[in-house]
Amino acid sequence: MSASYILALDQGTTSSRSLIVDAHGQVLFQAQREFTQHYPEPGWVEHNPTEIWDSQWATIQEVLSKSTLDPSSFGGIGITNQRETTVVWDRTTGEPVHRAIVWQDRRTGDYCEKLKSNLTVKDDIQSRTGLMVDAYFSASKIRWILDHTEGARERANRGDLLFGTVDSWLIWKLSESTSHITDASNASRTMLFNIHTMEWDASLCTLFNIPMSMLPEVVSSSGQLAQATCFTHPIPITGIAGDQQAALFGQQCFRPGMVKNTYGTGCFMLMNTGDHAVQSTHALLTTVAWKIGDRVQFALEGSVFIGGAAVQWLRDELSFIENAAEIEALAHTVQDSGGVYVVPAFAGLGAPYWNPRARGSIFGVTRGTGRGHIARAILESIALQSMDVLECMKKDSAIAITEMRVDGGAAKNILLMQFQSDVLGIDVVRPQNTESTAMGAAYLAGLGCEIWTSMEELSASLAPQDTFKPSKDKSEMRNKISGWKRAVKAAAYWANDGMKEEKTSES
Ligand code: ADP
Repeated sequence: MSASYILALDQGTTSSRSLIVDAHGQVLFQAQREFTQHYPEPGWVEHNPTEIWDSQWATIQEVLSKSTLDPSSFGGIGITNQRETTVVWDRTTGEPVHRAIVWQDRRTGDYCEKLKSNLTVKDDIQSRTGLMVDAYFSASKIRWILDHTEGARERANRGDLLFGTVDSWLIWKLSESTSHITDASNASRTMLFNIHTMEWDASLCTLFNIPMSMLPEVVSSSGQLAQATCFTHPIPITGIAGDQQAALFGQQCFRPGMVKNTYGTGCFMLMNTGDHAVQSTHALLTTVAWKIGDRVQFALEGSVFIGGAAVQWLRDELSFIENAAEIEALAHTVQDSGGVYVVPAFAGLGAPYWNPRARGSIFGVTRGTGRGHIARAILESIALQSMDVLECMKKDSAIAITEMRVDGGAAKNILLMQFQSDVLGIDVVRPQNTESTAMGAAYLAGLGCEIWTSMEELSASLAPQDTFKPSKDKSEMRNKISGWKRAVKAAAYWANDGMKEEKTSES
């Protein structure tokens, strides 16, 4: 049998998955395993790297046995992974020296705040890496492990320790400790990688006190990248990308100006900016989308902190609904939100407002306001926040945007998708195959092992999709948007104790 199947590994924050994809881009089999989340202190989140690998390996075994395919049937393995999560292990024994510090972990927040207070350093880091200084990225997490694990710094200085994001860690295991690599999209999330030279940045390694000998070799996102030798027949690893970039690829946003938005707990928006690393003036992130051959494509990235989480709030705290999907029927019990606006700033506001003090607020409530209005206003707030991020991308890139591709749990909500199209005034396109992230890994791997020979050929295999077109009167939407802006301003006024500010400026 020819090697025409792809094994896609999707290593996420709460579970590991494996999928078998055929040469038509169809998912034939899949398996999933959750693994333990460790919260040793408030704000800390850790994973056991061995458990990550064991769960991933178990899903690989499961799909292989379900499919009865032999390892020689696979042209390549594609890997996509939770980004930024940091693993440090011993080069000789392969033993992790500490549990993985997960992207959500805030333990290095104070250190990053201090670093950021030096504006020259802050700007320098942003211009080299495209990132805002934050505990989210790997650099401060590696530093923390070296500083807080007995003997780790000495071992690292001797060249005995290796660092990797989860892609590197899985490849180290799959290759039986022979390949220490990462792809450019994952490297660009470490805050140690210079996205202009496309190399590890020696001055940043010095700043964070991280020996460069720990860092993996940075390779392309697609091609013959390593060999997984742990099977009865070796399988080449031919695709690697961080989860959001993989979703951008899976949505086939191959050209500048193409955008995808993932509606999960939060919303993650990425826009392809082509060969140009656009530096944001709205505090968006600049990131490597992927490197294929020698060609690098970049993306702008922005996120909405509270997306589907606002629906969870309605379910868990207000008990308006029993499950997330019921919000749609509830929102349909009313014609519109009746002038109600919800600003779900439960954890502050992100782009373009950047107000960490802002808190959730509801405006425009009257005696006639009911659950349906609030439910509708919640859904609208998810779309309006996404609109704000897209506006920043448009301004930063000066690229016109003609459609937005969508995925994630809340993208199932038709009312939300239609409203999103109405407020943006552009088509919102939702593939029927919602596996954008895993498909991105599969596509990169399939290109890398030449199951597909070009991105154009891939586009021909694009799965069927639903398109939501703007259907509302423009002036109605303009009013809606101006009401939203007013609500956000009012929320910020309240959070900033506006009365006090007014008094100070009067005196
Ligand atoms: P994550 O990957 O962040 O866990 P998912 O893509 O699985 O997120 O989506 C789950 C989120 O989507 C939850 O916050 C949930 O409230 C929301 N959600 C799921 N289904 C719907 C729906 N039909 N309408 C609105 N929100 C939904």
